[in-house]
Amino acid sequence: MTSNGRRPLLNRRLAEFGTTIFAEMSALALSTGSINLGQGFPDTDGPEEIREAAVRALRDGRGNQYPPGPGVPELRTAIAAHQKHRYGLAYDPDREVLVTAGATEAIAASLLALVEPGDEVIALEPYYDSYAASIAMAGGTRIPVTLRPHEETRDGVTHRRFRLDLDELRDAVTDNTRLLLVNTPHNPTGTVLTREELGEIAKLAVERDLLVITDEVYEHLVFDEAEHLPLASFPGMRERTVTIGSAGKTFSFTGWKVGWVTGTPDLVTAVRSAKQFLTYVASGPFQYAVAEALALPDTYFAAFRADMLAKRDVLAAGLTEAGFKVFQPAGTYFITTDIRPLGESDGFAFCRALPERAGVVAIPNAVFYDHREAGAPFVRFAFCKRTEVLVDAAERLRKAFAH
Ligand SMILES: *Cc1c(COP(=O)(O)O)cnc(C)c1O
Repeated sequence: MTSNGRRPLLNRRLAEFGTTIFAEMSALALSTGSINLGQGFPDTDGPEEIREAAVRALRDGRGNQYPPGPGVPELRTAIAAHQKHRYGLAYDPDREVLVTAGATEAIAASLLALVEPGDEVIALEPYYDSYAASIAMAGGTRIPVTLRPHEETRDGVTHRRFRLDLDELRDAVTDNTRLLLVNTPHNPTGTVLTREELGEIAKLAVERDLLVITDEVYEHLVFDEAEHLPLASFPGMRERTVTIGSAGKTFSFTGWKVGWVTGTPDLVTAVRSAKQFLTYVASGPFQYAVAEALALPDTYFAAFRADMLAKRDVLAAGLTEAGFKVFQPAGTYFITTDIRPLGESDGFAFCRALPERAGVVAIPNAVFYDHREAGAPFVRFAFCKRTEVLVDAAERLRKAFAH
């Protein structure tokens, strides 16, 4: 379609980003009455006391008018306290913390602030869907480094994960590389980068003097022996790292859109320069509620993790019995599967047929890749749903595929 017969309406930077797969798959879920394990949002709200805190803020007239540009002081203080308590990372709430409209705005503002047209931005592929578009809006060139499926057997147990090839990462850095965009725990693969991997990333960033943006929105969703380690805590990293967090995933209020950035005053000031012309401010009353949420006792975070772990195990068992090859996630609330044991190889075709075949909706991982063929046989299921929904989905998948 053209506006005047000569020029497409959508500009060249965004031309490749038509509509997202989530719209198509959610429509399919509705029209077929399927269980939607496509998009990653919980089907129950977060803690009642935090919901009440938002109501109180709204009633008391806190945050109903433009909050301060950097975020309300209560929340900035709570974010700094959280980073200190969890990771021993000290940030000045006044100069080193910025509240954003979710992690999505934090990602966009960071890239818009730090990337010059022509700069190369290295991102781990498959990537969260806003990365490619935000890099494009900033005029950057994205350089994917692909996480590869890896399998090893220890003590008779097979462990599968998508693994970062550090040599590949090293080789991707050029004189035009401006920054590394890292995501751990990683959506969609469920990989949690290890201390060794993060140490190597840090060494490379220091050696090549690169900036780093690290998306850690799933920091509280790590399972089994995995441990979330913030990249900013590695030697030489604090001064070059923009760390991004969000309340959405941790407190099961994805509609509130409260996210944040922590970093040095220079980095935070740069990000704020872009942020102030995107939304300026957002989510006033919710900022007060999230300040209370971040101060919840450690028992909240432990219970949240245990609950999600139990959900993971329900869905993973169902998928395994149905015949999928399951990459047991060490973090996030997604399970990536390989459909080849089912005699399938095209995730797109598989996901389009799945609602009719099994009454379940999933997402083909290929949408998160530039190298579509590398992602072709992988399909992602979200497990942030009520247990009875997951039990039902697991049963449907077993019925459709296990023979
Ligand atoms: C959900 C998600 C986001 C977006 O977070 P919001 O706070 O809802 O904007 C960013 N990054 C990753 C990896 C996510 O999964």
